[in-house]
Amino acid sequence: MKYLSTRATRTDTSGRKRFCEILLEGLAPDGGLYLPEHYPQVDAALLARWRTVYREQSYAALAFEVLSLYIDDIPATDLKAICDKTYTKAVFGTEKIVPLTMLEDAAAGSGAAPLYLEALSNGPTLAFKDMAMQLLGNLFEYELARRGEQLNILGATSGDTGSAAEYAMRGKKGVRVFMTSPAGRMSPFQQAQMFSLMDENIHNIAVDGVFDDCQDMVKAVSNDLDFKRKYRIGTVNSINWARLLAQVVYYFAGYFQSTKANSERVCFAVPSGNFGNVCAGHVARMMGLPIDKLVVATNENDVLDEFFRTGIYRVRGSADTFETSSPSMDISKASNFERFVFDLLERDGALVKSLFGAALGDNGRFDLNADPRFGQAAQRFGFVSGKSTHADRLRTIRQTWERFGVMIDTHTADALKVACEQLHAGVPMIVLETALPIKFAATIVEALGREPDRPAKFEGIEALPKRVIAMAADVTAVKAYIALNCA
Ligand SMILES: *Cc1c(COP(=O)(O)O)cnc(C)c1O
Repeated sequence: MKYLSTRATRTDTSGRKRFCEILLEGLAPDGGLYLPEHYPQVDAALLARWRTVYREQSYAALAFEVLSLYIDDIPATDLKAICDKTYTKAVFGTEKIVPLTMLEDAAAGSGAAPLYLEALSNGPTLAFKDMAMQLLGNLFEYELARRGEQLNILGATSGDTGSAAEYAMRGKKGVRVFMTSPAGRMSPFQQAQMFSLMDENIHNIAVDGVFDDCQDMVKAVSNDLDFKRKYRIGTVNSINWARLLAQVVYYFAGYFQSTKANSERVCFAVPSGNFGNVCAGHVARMMGLPIDKLVVATNENDVLDEFFRTGIYRVRGSADTFETSSPSMDISKASNFERFVFDLLERDGALVKSLFGAALGDNGRFDLNADPRFGQAAQRFGFVSGKSTHADRLRTIRQTWERFGVMIDTHTADALKVACEQLHAGVPMIVLETALPIKFAATIVEALGREPDRPAKFEGIEALPKRVIAMAADVTAVKAYIALNCA
């Protein structure tokens, strides 16, 4: 299996690479994102076999089956060992790894559509990013050891991504993490999660500034090619193909848990920001998983909902990005969206390049409404969308608690709100739960008048000693710090 860039022309196959070559890379050299040359097809016999693999063996065994179709430059025994080590009950809390909770046999007013929550939030940092990041940590350690190399991961976080990366990379050989975050802007719980890590290879840097200042520092360092090469700087952001691939697995696991036979179809509702999670659903659907609709839910930052409704993709600047109570979706430029547009436009890399390169760069927007292929987003690819606001979030959290006794977080609430607008008689709707309520306690208190439950292992973490250094929003300072700690 080779991977190509979403900006490569059809005839130019020279830049195609294998899995381990793109594993440690970010964007392709032409600024595009990597995708497989084709999507391996899962026929009825294979789907039936995978159902048994998940039911009678494990999630790790299912992950190995899916990953094997895309990774042919890691020996099977090694890949199997990596999957087995990643998806364990010890790390994810349950044997099923992504258990379903049935909310309703037949959602009220929907004409009988079963409604489920699929828990992707039982990993070490209680958010779905663990699902992929835990695998990435083990893949990085494996590949770096094989090459005899080191990697220094530099990142910027406002919460979930940074902590998922640190918990995935802590103690891993060959990897150091330098994670910048805006000082005092994360919730006390999030700060405690990250800053209480005492591992030598994890460096927390609290920057005197906002998230954009952190992001700008990371970009400036990455643009200094000499420094980047000398100190082997890498990233773990959501455009990484291995992260996306890891996420494909739980769409299969959700399908098997909610259906009895492979003739059945299901819908998934996905709280979306960078379009990474739902793009994995698109890949699963392209492989032949019987997904009817992929429901894209946004918060007040509704770039994606606007696109699926109108065909216009209009990115917003940071000044026009709202700070909401589902902060992990406060994104106004969806970094994985280019992957879907590439498929929508029949893999015309030259056109994708003009849209995401020139048009977005010059005008901050492009318009596919007049392109006959835009209609295919819904018809052929199954995408529908909707938006949820703070008031919707509060109401959904309250109703879910009152009717089912289930407490959901703010991001999951956005997805559930939009899912209920898209129910189809007889077709199960699976809402992806992307975080536990404890991470966003203030909004839970606002909705329910009580604190969310806290998993035992996080009891009292705010009081633990903290390992973090303070820094001005200054690129020279962060470079000096990296140089000092890589010596
Ligand atoms: C990152 C995140 C999302 C958004 O996922 P994307 O892949 O960026 O679309 C949703 N919910 C939570 C809790 C997250 O951490």
